[in-house]
Amino acid sequence: MKKRSTFALLAIIIAGLVIFLWQNHTPASEVNNGSTPPKQSFNKKQYSTTDPTSIWVVVNKQHQLNPVDYAPSDLVVPNIPLRVPGNESMQVRKVTATALEQMFAAAKQQGIDLMLSSGYRSYAYQVSLYNGYVQTQGQATADTQSARPGYSEHQTGFAADIEPVSKECEVDPCFGTTPEGIWLAANAYKYGFIIRYTAADQKITGYEAEPWHIRYVGTALSTELHSTGVQTLEQFFGISGGAVYK
Ligand SMILES: [Zn+2]
Repeated sequence: MKKRSTFALLAIIIAGLVIFLWQNHTPASEVNNGSTPPKQSFNKKQYSTTDPTSIWVVVNKQHQLNPVDYAPSDLVVPNIPLRVPGNESMQVRKVTATALEQMFAAAKQQGIDLMLSSGYRSYAYQVSLYNGYVQTQGQATADTQSARPGYSEHQTGFAADIEPVSKECEVDPCFGTTPEGIWLAANAYKYGFIIRYTAADQKITGYEAEPWHIRYVGTALSTELHSTGVQTLEQFFGISGGAVYK
């Protein structure tokens, strides 16, 4: 009798233990149900937005390049169709060149023939360009035609103006409606570029729509902007912009 009750007690303890373990056991397949770990937030401080050598540098009418006569040290001519071969403006920074080459090759595979219209522009070139406008049209008009020296994204070597090989809508708002412009708007982010100046963001960027002007920022940022729907660097980083020069 004593043996029997000991056995019964042992059976109850084991049964209780089994039930306890069963209730507290979580099948591996359910571990993430409803509790997916939060996506690691994007590190907005990974690169500088003020260092002219940084792929995230923000240049606008409120933020001049520093130093004002900055020139990149690794300018190269990308292996893509060029509007004016041999010209200084057919250069871009090495990282931009590699991305352009990949993007142009992908476009070509889909029957889209792109050409580099203008890449790097030196401080000296921007001085002569801007001063030419000022002398002939006055400063107010000059400011609508050309960036002031030290304020052009082209001086970083990360910017490129793109046009069709056919030259249709060359540096013209209608480029956005060409097959090349439509392809660029839809695919540039895959190669680390953004369309820097859109009609919707004119008040933020300080520039009218330029569907031909792309800016290299790296695929991490271009993809983040694409997936979050944020259009401008100014909004993403909380940096001032606008049409008025500082
Ligand atoms: Zn441009």
